[in-house]
Amino acid sequence: MVDYYEVLGVARSASAEDIKRSYRKLARQLHPDVNGGDKDAENRFKLVTEAYDTLSDPEKRRQYDLYGSSSGAGGDPFGGGPFQPNFTDIFQTVFGQGFGGQEAPGPRRGEDMETAVNLTFEEAVFGCQKEISLKMPTTCPTCNGSGAKVGTSPTVCAQCQGSGSVKRVTQSFLGRMVTTMTCDVCHGEGKVITDLCPDCRGEGRKTLERHFTIEVPPGADNGLVLRLTGKGAAAPRGGQPGSLYVHVNVAPSERFERQGNDLWMRLPISYVQAALGAQIDFESLDGSETIEVAPGTQPGATVHLKGKGVPVLSGRGRGRGDLIVAMDVQMPKELGEEEEALLRQLAELRGEQVLGHHDHGIFSKLKSAFKP
Ligand SMILES: [Zn+2]
Ligand SMILES: [Zn+2]
Repeated sequence: MVDYYEVLGVARSASAEDIKRSYRKLARQLHPDVNGGDKDAENRFKLVTEAYDTLSDPEKRRQYDLYGSSSGAGGDPFGGGPFQPNFTDIFQTVFGQGFGGQEAPGPRRGEDMETAVNLTFEEAVFGCQKEISLKMPTTCPTCNGSGAKVGTSPTVCAQCQGSGSVKRVTQSFLGRMVTTMTCDVCHGEGKVITDLCPDCRGEGRKTLERHFTIEVPPGADNGLVLRLTGKGAAAPRGGQPGSLYVHVNVAPSERFERQGNDLWMRLPISYVQAALGAQIDFESLDGSETIEVAPGTQPGATVHLKGKGVPVLSGRGRGRGDLIVAMDVQMPKELGEEEEALLRQLAELRGEQVLGHHDHGIFSKLKSAFKP
């Protein structure tokens, strides 16, 4: 009995990713296209593909681990039982169409479009509706996207009978192989237009200005991209439209700085309020707030207001961040006569050495020396 794990050179505990990686490596080395018909490489290629087919499918792998076969209890996978993997399918699933394949049949999908929306800080925090408009390929209003002249309709493609693809049978080392190719008459659309719509020249779409109302969720931030499925470019003649991606730009706030869902702000308070404590009114994002400044508050000290920050983006009602208020203790730049007298009294009381009243004349002179 052949051990599929040994064939792929992986441990029995290997992850799906390990198995795929190992198969890719081996299949590249052993693919007959690279080995010029070497029989030994061909057989090994079949074997690794078979091993991969079993081990890459969780259910088949479970069966194989239990019974030593992916087709139920007992049985030898090489005895020609019900298990007959399609080598081409498996190979193309792993490598895509790039390894000598063709493009998939069927109508083309419309392109994805991109645009940006500019929001104020508050719009981003609380969410909003925005009108945006941009030019993009749009279903032709004259022919309704069919590409056919009004009054005429596309006819079923004679080559593929409307299926959009043609089958080609070839003989290869794997036996009889059926390859599906895009029909080259209708390019996979299954229909042929005989009279073109004059408005879009048969494209079924034309570039027009489109308008959208977009819903920006609360908690949006720079770097957020909103995806509007099906709002991208129309496909030529009846395929799926693309998606519209809207990049969100948020203007900075003059008062708040955002850190994740928390907001920071500086609250200017006087040195007297910091020393004696105070109740201070200020505007948060939600409106008026009153904050308690404790006596002896130091510059930079913070007060946290729970739930006054930015709403959590994913999922409404999942709460909000905090507003963190940092105390910006301000020293007076100029003192009135009475204030100065009181402060001098305070300095004397605390036994602190300060400049005399006339000494700061030196600073005034220095300052005026630099004035133009
Ligand atoms: Zn048209
Ligand atoms: Zn066709």
